[in-house]
Amino acid sequence: MRFSRQRQQILRTLQEFPEHPTAEQVFEKVRTQIPSISLGTVYRNLGMLVEQNVIRKFVSPGESSVRYDGRNDEHSHLVCEVCHKVFDIDVSTFSQLDEALEHDTGFSVKEHDIVLRGICRECREEKKINR
Ligand SMILES: [Zn+2]
Ligand SMILES: [Zn+2]
Repeated sequence: MRFSRQRQQILRTLQEFPEHPTAEQVFEKVRTQIPSISLGTVYRNLGMLVEQNVIRKFVSPGESSVRYDGRNDEHSHLVCEVCHKVFDIDVSTFSQLDEALEHDTGFSVKEHDIVLRGICRECREEKKINR
């Protein structure tokens, strides 16, 4: 698939900052590379990338703004309650859980759509320093 330079840069930004930024955060980062870009252009390109299934939208529970995910493969999420960054967890993390579930209930898991909430390493380390 061929993308415009702007879309390419937006996609690269999402992959470089895997904390699932909002459109505004993507805009702030892309602007350092392409100063002439507008927030509207960023929104439009993010929308197109979602439509083309290159990236995904992610709405954090309890947060109103939409975040963007540079990955479109199956994975689940860790949400930090302090900085609101979103981190990815691979499907393999749940393989033991899947096996236990199938063993106990006979249910065969095909897909995970899991959001775990907590405090990320960065925020935990910051807390320690402040104490
Ligand atoms: Zn955090
Ligand atoms: Zn993700």
